[in-house]
Amino acid sequence: MNLRKQFMVKPGGKFRLSDHDPDEVCNVDEKKEAVELTLHLTGRLVHLQKVLYAEHKRSLLIILQGMDASGKDGTISHVMSGVNPQGCYVTAFKEPTKVELDHDFLWRVHQHVPGRGIIGIFNRSHYEDVLVVRVHNLVPKDVWSKRYDQINAFEEILAENNVVILKFFLNISKDEQARRLEERKIDPEKSWKISEADEAERKFWDDYQAAYQDAIGKCSTKYAPWFVIPANKKWFRNLAVSQIIVDMLDDLKLKYPTQVNLAKRNSKARQ
Ligand code: ATP
Ligand code: MG
Repeated sequence: MNLRKQFMVKPGGKFRLSDHDPDEVCNVDEKKEAVELTLHLTGRLVHLQKVLYAEHKRSLLIILQGMDASGKDGTISHVMSGVNPQGCYVTAFKEPTKVELDHDFLWRVHQHVPGRGIIGIFNRSHYEDVLVVRVHNLVPKDVWSKRYDQINAFEEILAENNVVILKFFLNISKDEQARRLEERKIDPEKSWKISEADEAERKFWDDYQAAYQDAIGKCSTKYAPWFVIPANKKWFRNLAVSQIIVDMLDDLKLKYPTQVNLAKRNSKARQ
């Protein structure tokens, strides 16, 4: 089961969001099996993060996007459980402040890109500037339409400077979103999450789907691929995201630094 290959959006290809089934669970037909597999992957991630941190050469940037109630918070808490908090942080991007709006749209995100050895997670990201901003005409079309190329150029700079980028779109169906928003009204442990904006934004579902389709299609690149994760089943979503992160870190062939490397690092040589 190569989930990375299966859910990666091919750079330069034709991408249609409607081709992706939010209910897909591949051949994993039992929640129990998925939870066990995920637990095993979480253990491997804990080890890989330790080596990433010690090696201190590259960093991992994980970008999470999705509609309201698509499970961005839940994915972070499940997938990263057990990871040493010293080498990992999450940044949530909300509506920009006045100061942020006085700068270019990438300014606020750039300063939160993880440094060497660190895993940084973006809960929402610079993609909001071609999503909510486009759906609500917060800037004119000739401004947002240039941003796809600007995002690709920005991410290429990061990738060429040792930042490994993985972007996940948590794909839920409109019905599943309705169910989750209803659940928030009933379950006292979830009702703190209710926001009036969620119901209002739901009315723009189709516009958001179109905006996501363009963002993902235009910005899935070799150096910063998008993955469309079937997210109606939380247990499958957690499995898929964990698997893809672990596969990517495995591919980096991370190594603990040798004494020679450490001496170089201490001599302030720029690597
Ligand atoms: P949760 O609801 O799970 O707590 P959330 O990410 O939805 O998390 P909210 O405070 O509900 O957090 O929403 C943040 C809002 O900020 C979203 O509606 C998002 O679209 C908006 N936002 C983020 N970036 C921008 C941006 N660049 N321009 C305008 N709005 C933005
Ligand atoms: Mg919200």
